[in-house]
Amino acid sequence: MEQVRLYDTTLRDGMGGQGMSLSVGEKLKVVDALDALGVHFIEAGFPSSNPKEAELFERLAELQLKGATISAFGMTRRAGLAAAEDPALAALVESVVPVVCLVGKSWRLHLEKVIRVPEEENLAMIGDSVAFCHDAGKRVVFDAEHFFDGYRDDPAFALACVRAAAEAGAENVTLCDTNGGSLPGFVGEATAAAVEALDGAVEVGIHTHNDSECAVANSLAAVEAGARLVQGCVNGYGERCGNANLASILPALQLKMGFDVVSDAQLESLASTSHYLDELCNMTPDPNRAYVGRNAFAHKAGMHAAGVAADASTFEHLDPARVGNEREILASELSGKATIRSTAERVGLDLGDDAAAHAVETLKQREHRGYHYEAAQASFELLLRREAGLYKPLFELESFRVTTEKREGGEVETEATIKVIVDGERYVEVAEGNGPVNALDKALRAALTRRYPHLAEIELTNYKVRILDESHGTGAITRVLLDSTDHKREWGTIGVSENIIEASWEALVDSLAYAFQSR
Ligand SMILES: [Zn+2]
Repeated sequence: MEQVRLYDTTLRDGMGGQGMSLSVGEKLKVVDALDALGVHFIEAGFPSSNPKEAELFERLAELQLKGATISAFGMTRRAGLAAAEDPALAALVESVVPVVCLVGKSWRLHLEKVIRVPEEENLAMIGDSVAFCHDAGKRVVFDAEHFFDGYRDDPAFALACVRAAAEAGAENVTLCDTNGGSLPGFVGEATAAAVEALDGAVEVGIHTHNDSECAVANSLAAVEAGARLVQGCVNGYGERCGNANLASILPALQLKMGFDVVSDAQLESLASTSHYLDELCNMTPDPNRAYVGRNAFAHKAGMHAAGVAADASTFEHLDPARVGNEREILASELSGKATIRSTAERVGLDLGDDAAAHAVETLKQREHRGYHYEAAQASFELLLRREAGLYKPLFELESFRVTTEKREGGEVETEATIKVIVDGERYVEVAEGNGPVNALDKALRAALTRRYPHLAEIELTNYKVRILDESHGTGAITRVLLDSTDHKREWGTIGVSENIIEASWEALVDSLAYAFQSR
């Protein structure tokens, strides 16, 4: 089987999307998740001297990846400057990553209106920069920006640009539909022309944007025309209408077009990886997303359900299990049980048949109320412990009270008072905090650490709040995701309530209970 490789640009293009902002720790989690999915290249962004980026590249060097290669992103040298004297290129070749992706122009309009350089200089900028990185020992991917607009305008010049990169030592030349306006027929035709012009000497790649709702279709058309590397973002993150969605491209390449992309097991983790990345990026998972959405294989009762029961291919384009999704009406209970069983096994819990069936019911009810456990495995484990009758409460709550006071001068003060019974002993604690959740955490922790000093080590590293409008009740529902660490491992917990303090409290109690139980 012929191979097509995936190149994820979430940390470059994806970060341009509305509402996208990730800490260094979260970016590392993105890299880990993409690696586990089998994505071949993961671009980490531009290795500038800005401390946040520098920290990212430092910590990336320490990551143990299963198969992915990390790349860094940069641009061709500035006009009229030798490649060796361009500080941005210097930063790129000095970075620890083995692959660099250089973006360069291939549309005359940009030469005239944006960078104002003659055609020969643009070709030299491409050739010099690729050669400079290649000579410094880097593998080079060249992204021909606006290639399709350039090809429409002047095919000979656009092809000369990609040829310049190929001749200078690029291992891949990727054709970009940067404005996202091209349609599949044309993308196929222009890609075929580039493949022919490069004469098989260099691999061709494709990088599309979704401004015409054709990013996935354009990527597949390019592969049909000979491209063998697909750039994009899982879930289609990116500025404007987003980038090509690798979560749709991957199953199409592997299950429909017969290419070898990732292992079957990796493909089966696609749906959970997609949901996990949404949770990390604080995006609401789109239930109607192809392949991985919760509705992608949901059948209304009636004729469809009966048809699917007789033969699933009557109303399904593929078996949902191949991409880790579930058929909603028929199989969800069975596969729900399997997930629950395997998690229980992993954490050493023995769930019998009845308990597993009951856990499926509990899980369904909670999902309906807004709980999603993809990014809250610790809460999921606690749920299973409760179902198995093995949950030991860390304390009994008598009451808590949180007050926030705003003064005339603008200062805000928050104070929490808590009354709890820990191991038969009653404690009353008061704490101030920089917000209600912080104050509550401090007060609770003050009481608990009197009995269990090691709980003081736990640090809350991330606190995410989302308002869910998907609920059917009267008020909006708040969901809180909390990440905690004891500096040896990290775990995620969840709380859901109409009240944000209550939701936060639930996630907080789970976090401490998890630390206590799984010590
Ligand atoms: Zn792009």
